[in-house]
Amino acid sequence: MQIVFATNNLNKLKEVQKLIPNSIELLSLKDIGCFEDIPETQDTIKGNAIQKAEYIKTHYGYNCFADDTGLEVNVLNNEPGVYSARYAGPQRNANDNMDKLLLNLKDHDNRNAQFKTVIALRLNGKLKTYTGICKGQITTIKKGEKGFGYDPIFKPNGYEKTFAEINLDLKNKISHRGKAISLLVKHFSSLSFL
Ligand code: IMP
Repeated sequence: MQIVFATNNLNKLKEVQKLIPNSIELLSLKDIGCFEDIPETQDTIKGNAIQKAEYIKTHYGYNCFADDTGLEVNVLNNEPGVYSARYAGPQRNANDNMDKLLLNLKDHDNRNAQFKTVIALRLNGKLKTYTGICKGQITTIKKGEKGFGYDPIFKPNGYEKTFAEINLDLKNKISHRGKAISLLVKHFSSLSFL
């Protein structure tokens, strides 16, 4: 079965490709000739994931899943949340975003945060969503070279290292996206037509 993963982020594609069963042929946006920016104009993470999956179905006709992720920080009223990518401005720069977050948390001892991923699956006329959460702490300095986005300042609970210091296999096991993807994979495994 062919299905589109609506992302231009090669890191995410690499993460998800490792988790999807071989019977599913994953297509990237490039594979289907989709080069435009897909609208993400909703005010919730779930809303954006659904909007992206619906866009691909409507404009390209493919079964599709799309994800949206946000970093929710407790003492900042769950900001940056749905605005995580453009927290420090429209340039969507990971370093700028981390710097802004570290500055906003400068005087706070409570560093509790969580990553939330929602995956929307548009498959054969039905829409389903899957949510994965990874709780952790925002560090005071950036550490590590791996990963992307906010990884250098997020330490998952139960680990002494940031996401940017651990390998991809471990991150996949414990991350928000890994958890949402495993719910998606479980659903795929239950489908009789695979
Ligand atoms: P998106 O929904 O994947 O576009 O992500 C929204 C924002 O969260 C972007 O700034 C990403 O860099 C960041 N982000 C998404 N997933 C992760 C992750 O696994 N680690 C760190 N940052 C992430």
